[in-house]
Amino acid sequence: MAGRLIVMSGPSGAGKTSLGRALVEQVEGLRFSVSHTTRRPRRGERHGVEYFFVSEPEFREMVARDRFLEHARVHGHYYGTSREWVTDCLDSGKDVLLDIDVQGARQIMDQVRDALTILILPPSRRELERRLTQRGQDRLAVIRRRMERAAKEVGAYNRYRYAIINDSLKDALLELKSVVGSHESDSGGPVRNTKRIQEVVETFKEAQ
Ligand code: 5GP
Repeated sequence: MAGRLIVMSGPSGAGKTSLGRALVEQVEGLRFSVSHTTRRPRRGERHGVEYFFVSEPEFREMVARDRFLEHARVHGHYYGTSREWVTDCLDSGKDVLLDIDVQGARQIMDQVRDALTILILPPSRRELERRLTQRGQDRLAVIRRRMERAAKEVGAYNRYRYAIINDSLKDALLELKSVVGSHESDSGGPVRNTKRIQEVVETFKEAQ
C-alpha cells in the first residue's frame, strides 16, 4: 500500500520544526523529507540532516531537470522538495512528512489530492512576535518581515484540512499525533473551524 503524504506549514516561530521532529520520532514508519535550500546553514546545521545546502545554480539546475515535487522562494532563499525521494518513500509504503511554506503546500495540494495538510498556528500574533524576539536569532528588520509573512500564512488557514494551535508543545504534539494517527483518506472537507482558531486568525487581521 502506498504511504501518505503529510504536509505541515505555519509561520516561523510557530514551532512546526520541533513538532515535526518529535512526530517522526514517535510515529513508526513516518519519514521527514529533507529539503534542498540555497540559504546558508545556521550554526549546528548539517548538510543532509536539516537540509541539503546547495548553490543557486545547482538549485536552478534541479528545477530545470524537474527534480522538485514543489519549490518556492521563502525569505529570499529557494527551497524545494525532492520528487524522487518522496515518491520512493510513498511507493514503499512509508508515510512522508513535509515541513514547507504555504506556496509549496498549494503546489502539493494541486498534485496530491489526498495529502493530509496541517497548519500550525501560534496562540496569537503577540505571542509569535515574543517567540521570534526571544530566540534572538534574527535582527529587528528580519523579525518584522517574518511577522508580515506570518499574517499571510495564517490567512491561508482555510486551505488546510487541519489547524493546530501550538500553545504548549506537549498538547500540540498530542493533537498532531491524533490527526496523523487517523488512517482515513483526507480528500476534501473543511478545516476544523473552531472558535479558538478563528480567534487566533483575528489577532493577525487586527494588526494589518
Ligand atoms: P528555515 O530556513 O527557517 O528552516 O525555513 C524557512 C521556511 O521555509 C519555513 O517556513 C519552512 O517550512 C520552509 N521550507 C523548508 N523547506 C521547504 C521546501 O522544501 N519547500 C518549501 N516550499 N518551503 C520549505
